[in-house]
Amino acid sequence: MMGNFSDKIFHRLDNIEDVEEFYEAIDRKHLSKSLSPERPYTYWTIELYDKANGIRGGGGLGVLAADTRRVAERQQVPFTLITPFYPSEPHQTYSNFENGAYHENVSYAQYGFKFIDTVNIRACGQICTLDVVEKQLGSTRILCITEPNFGELYSGESGGDHRLYQEVSLGFGGYQALKLVGLKPAIMQLNEVATFFAALARLDELASNGMDVYEAIVYTRKHTLYTNHTLVQAAEADFSYEQFERYVFPNLRSKAVRKWLSDKFDNGRIRLSTVTIEIAELRSGVSKLHARVANYHDLAGDKVKFKAVTNGIDIPTWTLPEIVSYLKDKEIIDKFDLPAEKYLENVEKIEAKDIRELKNAGRAELNRVLSHRVDQYGVHPVVEDDALVFDFKRRFVDYKRPWLPMTNPERLAELLEKYNIHYFLAGRVHEGDFVMADKLKNLLETVDRNPILKKRVHYLPDYDEELGRALSVGANVSINTPIVGLEACGTSWMKDIINLGILVSTHDGGVADCPSDSYLCVNGRNEAEEVESLYQRIEEAAKAWQNDFDLEQIIKTELKNYVPVISGSRMLRDYLNYLF
Ligand SMILES: *Cc1c(COP(=O)(O)O)cnc(C)c1O
Repeated sequence: MMGNFSDKIFHRLDNIEDVEEFYEAIDRKHLSKSLSPERPYTYWTIELYDKANGIRGGGGLGVLAADTRRVAERQQVPFTLITPFYPSEPHQTYSNFENGAYHENVSYAQYGFKFIDTVNIRACGQICTLDVVEKQLGSTRILCITEPNFGELYSGESGGDHRLYQEVSLGFGGYQALKLVGLKPAIMQLNEVATFFAALARLDELASNGMDVYEAIVYTRKHTLYTNHTLVQAAEADFSYEQFERYVFPNLRSKAVRKWLSDKFDNGRIRLSTVTIEIAELRSGVSKLHARVANYHDLAGDKVKFKAVTNGIDIPTWTLPEIVSYLKDKEIIDKFDLPAEKYLENVEKIEAKDIRELKNAGRAELNRVLSHRVDQYGVHPVVEDDALVFDFKRRFVDYKRPWLPMTNPERLAELLEKYNIHYFLAGRVHEGDFVMADKLKNLLETVDRNPILKKRVHYLPDYDEELGRALSVGANVSINTPIVGLEACGTSWMKDIINLGILVSTHDGGVADCPSDSYLCVNGRNEAEEVESLYQRIEEAAKAWQNDFDLEQIIKTELKNYVPVISGSRMLRDYLNYLF
């Protein structure tokens, strides 16, 4: 089933001569001097969500990493992504109102990774040997470190020993792996602080090869970008000095670097963001709002400034191919998936009958996927052709408020019945999160007690890329209700808009890059008001699908505002502009 999906992802543009043309299109002609196959852009991430290449992630952080690499591949930019290959991956099950899990073993060889050699790191008085494996994809590669007991993504406590072991392995092991395959990083982008140790490994290499430690810090800082996805520094787990004595210090060769790092502890504890800020002069947040409100301070107590580089998506991965062709034919996006020169004018040419026709094709794709997925009752959900599909698809976490549309079950039931709507919910509960597992159970018991909801609300367990894409292409309306101020960016809503769906959302994350009348905005001074606003917007969205004029207006407004935001090539251009 993944085979079918990945074939669609990796069709490449065949009319791009080489990277020079892309550099020219984004006004960065001189970049061919800064980036080369031997001196690539390096991207470090503890999470990658790219199952076609064997690696399953947890959510948006990993999807972003995968999309960034895909965009670089499509535009032929030299790019290396360094990440762990997790030998085990968790899956969610759901039956009899109980959240469950099973674990699957994965082998890198099965996904076309080639074994290169081994590297060593030191931990707890022992030498740990890590396999270095790689896969080349066009101008890019995925370079992984792994070993049979590496464990799963986000296993154990976030300040725990195993996480620290994984993070140190990625940083020190990954840095050696890069040298093993003969690469020098032109730039190191740290996708969140779990990758701090990669920059530390570079600093240690420079300092132990004779560079003055302060010069080494300046050099490392200038070539390191820290991309923050979190809002509150205080929420981050910390590590103890004693943990660093077991896992980190044994990997440092430079006494001066060891001293530098030791000095960063406060009462015997350290937060990785504190030191990441010290080692990276370039810092970015993932949407305009997020970059503005992320509340981080450096050791001197000064507020850290983040450059806003709003996330984008790899459009061909997440969009129905017929829709991609349509947007290109209408010259709304160009061959680089950037907004075309006259996209604002060209969006005006979209007609409701095209939207309906393309959405029917999207529905067929959704139905194909639903034929091998089950709902909370273990059956394949079936949606009549004339019904509307609404969805809520995102990790099942508190701040995203998956229960918000269910606040008044009778009201929701009435709307679903009146407008013949099927409502799909998808989102995994993190294993061990008993609070959220309980909330999911309550929610689905509420559904079970109401005959209309029971017929029309479908929870799809084990949310993954396949479901994310199928719902984006097949749903008419998607709902996104994070508590305002808590979503860093989010990318699911981008998949919905580019697939010509109506977005009902609170004004948060990357959605807030554009004015609140760019989509159907849910607002209110408190949650009760937001719930009222949400039901009104649900009704408005359902009615719009009955009326060509309204449908056209909403879709055109969304595209005019968000095509530049959504474009992953625009995101890559913004990073390249900031970095070079
Ligand atoms: C797109 C996607 C995400 C991103 O989720 P947000 O909540 O919008 O950040 C997460 N998981 C999967 C499987 C996806 O396809």
